Order: sequence, then C-alpha cells, then structure tokens
Amino acid sequence: MNRLGKLESEQEPETAPAPVIDSLASIRDMVSTCIQCGTCTGSCPNAFAMDLTPRQLWYNVLRGEKETIFHSKTFSLCSVCYYCTLRCPRGLPLTEAMSALKQIAAKENLAPYKKSIRFYKSFMESVCRHGRVREMELMTLYFISMKSPFLPLQFAPLGMKLMGKGKISFEIPSKGNGALKAIFRKVEELEKKEEK
Ligand code: SF4
Ligand code: SF4
Repeated sequence: MNRLGKLESEQEPETAPAPVIDSLASIRDMVSTCIQCGTCTGSCPNAFAMDLTPRQLWYNVLRGEKETIFHSKTFSLCSVCYYCTLRCPRGLPLTEAMSALKQIAAKENLAPYKKSIRFYKSFMESVCRHGRVREMELMTLYFISMKSPFLPLQFAPLGMKLMGKGKISFEIPSKGNGALKAIFRKVEELEKKEEK
C-alpha cells in the first residue's frame, strides 16, 4: 500500500484509496507547456504558506507525482485570485487547474482535506438554504459533519467573543426558503453532464 493509501486507511476508513489517474491527466494537459519560470510562484499572494510553491506543484503534476501532490496543502490554499493565470507567460489556466485539484480531493474524500471539504460543504449548504451564509448555522453543520463532540469546545471561546462584539448573532439553524436550490440543482446537472 502506498503512503497516501496507508494514511487514509489509518485515519479515515471511508475514504477512497487514491486519486483518479484520468483526472490528473486532464490537469497535466492544462500545464503541459509550463517552462518552470516561477512567475506563478512570484505572483501568488499565498505562496508563503504553501508547502510546495505553485511552480513546484506544476512540476509534480507534469511528473505524475500523485502522492506528493495530494499530501501538499498548496492547491487547498489557493484563494482563486487569478494573478498566476494572468501573469503566466504561457497563458496556462492555472487557477482552473488549482480548482480541478480541489475537486479531485473532494470527490475522492481524501483524508488530508477532510476538514476543508466538510467546511466547504457546510458553507454551501447554508448559502443554498438562505441565499447567504449564516455563521452560526455554518458552524453547527460543520460540527455535525465532523462527528467530534470536542470540536465545538475548541471554537467556543472565539464564538463567545464574536457574539459579545456583535460580529455574529445567535440564529437557530433552519431549512430557510431554499432560495438558491434551483440554481444549485442546475449546476449539479451540468457538472454531471460534463463528467460523462
Ligand atoms: S508561470 Fe506558467 S510557465 Fe511559469 S512556472 Fe508557472 S505555470 Fe509554468
Ligand atoms: S489563483 Fe491561487 S495559485 Fe494563483 S496566484 Fe491566486 S492564490 Fe495563488
């Protein structure tokens, strides 16, 4: 068993064993003409926090190093600012490639990204219900999805502080009016069609 598969089976039994090879192939196509100039790294406002720089990430994508890529935090730290895409001298769709890596990690439910995947899903669920995010509901949905009784305790002091300053309000989670449900459903349909 490879390192990624082993880590998943120890920490998160329900996760899939390894990223889909074909999905990575399409990302490799996106960066196939990379000349490793490093402009993307120099342009990225989040590069300081990344374990692999964007240039190194693309190098690993070109080499098909799945374990290195999917153990890296780099693509999950991309804030979709498009600087790298605008400045790449080869005109490569780098932001799109970063998003494609995020999508693979989410679809495969890879253990290293479990927290961010569930946070993202909780965020989108709240937006779908109300047309905007409701902070208290977001955190409630996230805690439920994480199934950890101690997790809320870690956030309690911050929550109390924010409530005390009026930054968040106490709102009981509700189904809302499903303001964006139709749009979400349409996007899901389009994504499924694209996958076929
Ligand atoms: S800016 Fe473009 S060509 Fe240069 S290293 Fe980054 S992806 Fe490759
Ligand atoms: S789009 Fe992502 S990877 Fe590119 S510069 Fe912005 S944060 Fe960095």
